[in-house]
Amino acid sequence: MGVRPVVISTWSFGAVANAAAWPVLAGGGSALDAVVAGATAVEDDPAVDSVGVGGLPDASGRVSLDACVMVGPGRCGSVAYLRGYAHAAQVARLVMEKTVHVMLAGDGAEAFAQRQGFVRHPTDLLTLASKSAWEQWRVARDAEDRRGGAGAREGELPAMNVEERYAQARHMPGAREGNHDTVCVLGLDDKGELAGAVTTSGLGYKVPGRVGDSPIVGHGLYVDQQVGAAAATGNGELVMGVCGSFLAVEFMRQGRTPAEAVVGVLERVVGAYEVLPQHQVGVVAMSAGGAWACASLRGGFSCCVTDGGGQRRVESGRVLLG
Ligand code: ASP
Repeated sequence: MGVRPVVISTWSFGAVANAAAWPVLAGGGSALDAVVAGATAVEDDPAVDSVGVGGLPDASGRVSLDACVMVGPGRCGSVAYLRGYAHAAQVARLVMEKTVHVMLAGDGAEAFAQRQGFVRHPTDLLTLASKSAWEQWRVARDAEDRRGGAGAREGELPAMNVEERYAQARHMPGAREGNHDTVCVLGLDDKGELAGAVTTSGLGYKVPGRVGDSPIVGHGLYVDQQVGAAAATGNGELVMGVCGSFLAVEFMRQGRTPAEAVVGVLERVVGAYEVLPQHQVGVVAMSAGGAWACASLRGGFSCCVTDGGGQRRVESGRVLLG
């Protein structure tokens, strides 16, 4: 059993999320308000190059966001491939609250955001830093193509090279080490209600049109009030084939602790895929009672936890592959 209220968010910038989410929870607010506030704070932080404003663009230089919010199977909403609007988690929440649908994507999601009063970002979420990182990536890619490496056309990378290019991109000059990936925020309020929000610009330099695990209920996020909540980050393609977040919650339903559940998901990933050296998956879970855990395939994954005892960074409880 854990304590409540409590909020846990992924990666070092989880601290930014928790700084916004905790006052909501501490003031008696709902878990849903808290996790969306946390997600929004990271979306607004241009220093985070994998979420919202400043997120790395796709191969064609355009930024697209994926986000999801969830309170339970009957209360969830998401947006995929949202371009030009920073507050993807808020838009996802409005999909849940104002439509009969669960998910909106692309042009339709953008038109919905506009109808809901969101203002288009003046540079379509690009910052000087993210634009320059993309330009450097493009120069390196073109040089590789000239050497006869990939032979890729703009915006149409051969499937086999996507991971390779992503790995390369993350080691480009200017890519900030340790500053990557999706922010997943799980919260439990003082009334005992759970909620989750995830938001991301997805894999940097992805194939235009690519959507990852984050906006898909059960993959990037799952919440069941009777059992618990879970969320995933890292290479979404490895999470999607095993319904990672749903699986973590189902493991908890079967009686596993959050720590056992997140490890169970990672074992399933390892069993299902050929995991490459550059692959990373991090999973975080929280039980309905507020116990939490996080684990990852590789080192370097951490979460930020805030409860009545304060805020602290916790390293991955278990690293499966080192
Ligand atoms: N899971 C996200 C995606 O595949 C990215 C990440 O968390 O690093 O889009």
